[in-house]
Amino acid sequence: MKFIDEYRDRQAAEQFSRAIAATAKRSWTLMEVCGGQTHSIVKFGVDELLPKEVTLVHGPGCPVCVTPVELIEKAIEIASRPEVIFCSFGDMLRVPAHVGDGHETPMDLLSVKAQGGDVRIVYSPLDAVQIARKNPARQVVFFAVGFETTAPANAMAVFQAYQQGISNFSLLVSHVLVPPAMEAILSSPDNRVQGFLAAGHVCTVMGYTEYEPIAEKYHVPIVVTGFEPVDILQGIFLCVKQLEEGRAAVENQYARSVRRAGNRAAQQIIQEVFRVIPRKWRGVGEIPRSGLGLQEKYREYDAEVRFGVAEHTTEESSECIAGLVLRGIRKPHECLAFGAHCTPERPLGAPMVSSEGACAAYYRYRRLSCRD
Ligand code: SF4
Repeated sequence: MKFIDEYRDRQAAEQFSRAIAATAKRSWTLMEVCGGQTHSIVKFGVDELLPKEVTLVHGPGCPVCVTPVELIEKAIEIASRPEVIFCSFGDMLRVPAHVGDGHETPMDLLSVKAQGGDVRIVYSPLDAVQIARKNPARQVVFFAVGFETTAPANAMAVFQAYQQGISNFSLLVSHVLVPPAMEAILSSPDNRVQGFLAAGHVCTVMGYTEYEPIAEKYHVPIVVTGFEPVDILQGIFLCVKQLEEGRAAVENQYARSVRRAGNRAAQQIIQEVFRVIPRKWRGVGEIPRSGLGLQEKYREYDAEVRFGVAEHTTEESSECIAGLVLRGIRKPHECLAFGAHCTPERPLGAPMVSSEGACAAYYRYRRLSCRD
């Protein structure tokens, strides 16, 4: 298949592997931002093709994983109401909200559904708008989780509902933004990241001009990178080359999809419907200007306001070290619960549930346990 096969080509991968080994003279720690990249790395053994000088750590780019527990609890509270049809992508349904000491029964949206709640998996937020149109007597809520990649479609759903006068539709918004998270990682006292592989799909929407001041301020190379093994190896090569040459620029490995300015039409609909706000990240805490919330004009489409759950807060589990995993400080198998108290069948934290979660990738492809 074009744009897949050539980026999974063994010979091309080995060429980049040799080029990285020949280039890396000192030790470097790089972070791949996106959970999709993490899954490719673990699935295809990309990290096993790297010389000992290059260490990869996994970043915060799994939207399900960084959604704080309190938002899952808000989703459960709203979805449990008899008048509500709660729509979500499938990944969110099994994220536990009650992550105590591992002996309690966690609640998730799937258990709400099992108890009679009207929880539906949809493939687009526009499907949820359709459901609202067909069910005027019910309240239809879409769980809008994601980075910049999913923001245009979610914005379009609200925009369409507004234009068409559909008032029984709302969004439970958990949108986060990549650049502030990178800055939070770089300015943390325990940071070990010296270069980034930025997420290609996010940059397809947003372009990469917002990464240029970060590269300059923190003197880190940032390489916009795709998701196939050869993409990732090429991104690592470009990053290591910059580090060895003492450069810190933004480069674009994923030029088949990404333009410097991004997709202007997508950015316009985001700006029409959303505004930048502070957001809480699971295991990390609040990061200023790191999320999206609805503009005042669309406030009536905010499910937190509509259902009166905006003030709800909760403590996170102390057993789940997702915050350290998402900042690249620990690897998943270094969590004491990994493979023991926490498995995909009985997850303690979101990184073990999500298809982009680092813990799920390690469990699925390597089956390491905390005892390894
Ligand atoms: S294995 Fe991952 S998801 Fe599970 S408790 Fe540890 S850090 Fe959290």
